[in-house]
This record gives sequence, C-alpha cells and structure tokens, in this order.
Amino acid sequence: MARETVFQGGFDEDDAAPLDMLGSGGFDPQDRRMDEALRPQSLDDVIGQRKVVERVKIMLDATRKRNDTLGHILFDGPPGIGKTTLATVIPNELGVELQMAAGPALDAPKDLLPYLTNATHGSVLFIDEIHRLRPAVEEFLYPAMEDFRIDIALGEGLNARTINMQLKPFTIIGATTRSGMLTAPLRDRFVYREHLDFYETEDLVEIVRRNARKLRTSVTDEAALAVAMRSQGTPRKANNILLRTRDFATLRDPNGQITTAIAEDAMGILEIDTLGLERQDRRYLTTLLDIFKGGPAGLQAIAHSMSVPPDTLEDDIEPFLLRSGLIQRTPRGRVVTAAACEHLGRELPPKSGPGSLFA
Ligand code: ADP
Repeated sequence: MARETVFQGGFDEDDAAPLDMLGSGGFDPQDRRMDEALRPQSLDDVIGQRKVVERVKIMLDATRKRNDTLGHILFDGPPGIGKTTLATVIPNELGVELQMAAGPALDAPKDLLPYLTNATHGSVLFIDEIHRLRPAVEEFLYPAMEDFRIDIALGEGLNARTINMQLKPFTIIGATTRSGMLTAPLRDRFVYREHLDFYETEDLVEIVRRNARKLRTSVTDEAALAVAMRSQGTPRKANNILLRTRDFATLRDPNGQITTAIAEDAMGILEIDTLGLERQDRRYLTTLLDIFKGGPAGLQAIAHSMSVPPDTLEDDIEPFLLRSGLIQRTPRGRVVTAAACEHLGRELPPKSGPGSLFA
C-alpha cells in the first residue's frame, strides 16, 4: 500500500487561503476536497466539542511544558463528526509532522512498517478506522505504541530470527466509529480516549456561517439555521448542504446570497426532509416498515433487503435514526418507532407478536 502524503506542521492563518481548491458540484471526490478545504486548521478554529477541545488543550500544554511526546489518543464518534479534523489540528498545534493511514488498507505488518520507521521525533501517525486493523497488524503495533520498538521477523525455518528495531518516540491518533469493536489490549494502549458527540444546532449554525464566509458566500441567519437543523448533527453534512445550496444561490439569487427560500428549495431538490433525513435514511425506515412489519429485524436482514453493506447501515445511517428516536435497537433486532411512522405519514404496523414495540 502506498503511503499518503506527509503533511508538515504549521498552518495557514488566512481563512480564504484554501479557496483555490473550492469549486462546485456534488458530494463526490471533488466535494470531499472542498470539505477538506473547509477543515479547521487550528484548535481555535474548531467549533463546538468544547469539553473535548478543552481537554486536548491541556494535553498539548502539558506535553509542551514537559518537552515530551504526546500520549496516544483515540477519538471515537459517528462519521463526519470531526475525528480527522482534531487529528490534523493537533500536529499543527505542536508543529510536528503528520502521517495518515487507514486501518482497512493495512493488510500486513509490512504495510505499517514505512509509517513507523518514517515517524520523526514527536510526530503524529493518524490511523483512521483503527477498529478494522487486522490482528497481525494490531499486534505489530503494540510494542511500537508501548516502547517505541518493533520486532521484525526475518527468514524462515532454521534461519528465522527476529530483529528488534528502536523507533523515534511518536504519537498514534486513532479514529473509530465503533469503539466497542476495539480489542481491550489496543484500547488500553491509548493514554487519552475522547468521544465526539453530535453537535448542538447553535454550533452547526456557527460552522455554516463561518464556512459561508470562507466560500465568500453570504447566508442569512435564518438560512444558516435551516441548514444547521437539517445536517443530522454533523459538520460534514452541514458543509455538504452548504456547498450544494451555494450552487443554487449562484444560479438563482442576483447576489448569490443563500436565503431561506433558496435553502429550502435546495434541500427539497436534494430530498433532505424536515428532520434532515436523506433518501437512504427514509429507505431504511420504509424497508423496516414494509418488509419487516416495523421489526424487530436483524441488521444483516435489513442490509440484505436494501442491498447495502451492514457496516454502512451501522456507521452511516443508524446513529442518527437512533439518536432521533426513529428506531430502537432491541435484543431481537431493530424496531421502527411511532415517531418514525408519524414522520413518514404512515400507519403503525399491525401488532406483530411479542417483543415488538407494537405488541
Ligand atoms: P470524521 O473524521 O469524524 O469522519 P472529519 O474530521 O473529516 O470527520 O469532519 C468532516 C468535516 O467537517 C471536516 O472536513 C470539516 O470541514 C468539518 N468539521 C469537523 N469538525 C469540525 C469542527 N469542530 N468545526 C468546524 N468544522 C468541522
């Protein structure tokens, strides 16, 4: 696997600087680049997650004062909540290098080797989706995390030997959408563990307004609120809607301003409803209602009916539905709630036996 770019520490203070990267379009790879351009570069730039940010500041100040290497950090939380953002901000703040890797792409210890041997003193190695590391890779990481050393096996049979290699002290920042899937030995090797929760609406409003400024687009307060309220509590969705809405404003408003009417129209066309549900979220609910009579239904069965990988449902779709009280997880499976039926304008499914919410 090829290593990704090494980013140097230090950041650009100018809000508008990354704008060359910004264009318009859907949330495809290009939009992802735009989203990257909106990513906060310093801790002061990070909006919301105040308690986490406060604790990160303390970690950084103490590390600097001790002239030490930062302890390993684990961030967990749903997709698009700011895990990668914090992981990029931290080396910026410390003025150290950052390397980025992703758990599923590391097939064998040898794929991890270049990252470890290239880690400079005090640098950060970010490992996204760390819960998906293969066991052999994870075990290879243990001594690296604990003692900054690795054991490399050379040769086979009678010629087999292990060489021990010392690494520079460095910091691993792991990100996971499933902290529960992390093995205990890996989890225990993180000095700091921080959970990122969904954002308050007021913080999302602030993110929308700030990013509109970065995009040199004006947005009314009411429109910023409308976008924030439909973004499922995550900055990524807020950015996504903002970028799309901006296209509509460019085409429809003489000043390119995002007004409430334009935001509402854009969200209508994007099929984002009043709760912020997207087509796939509603499809999940209607599948549960129509095929499984409201549940309980197992994740695999729902995933199969929707032709969507179960991981996608569990990571991308379910967290917000659960948090909004539209589904419940019971020991027997997922169940749709009365609130979901009301939202979809559907009747509650007939009683479907013991254990169901409607029994
Ligand atoms: P995750 O790694 O949890 O999936 P990211 O860190 O990639 O999420 O966040 C997605 C996008 O949301 C980022 O590119 C950034 O533009 C924006 N974002 C995330 N957290 C914040 C924040 N606290 N303040 C402002 N924008 C944020």
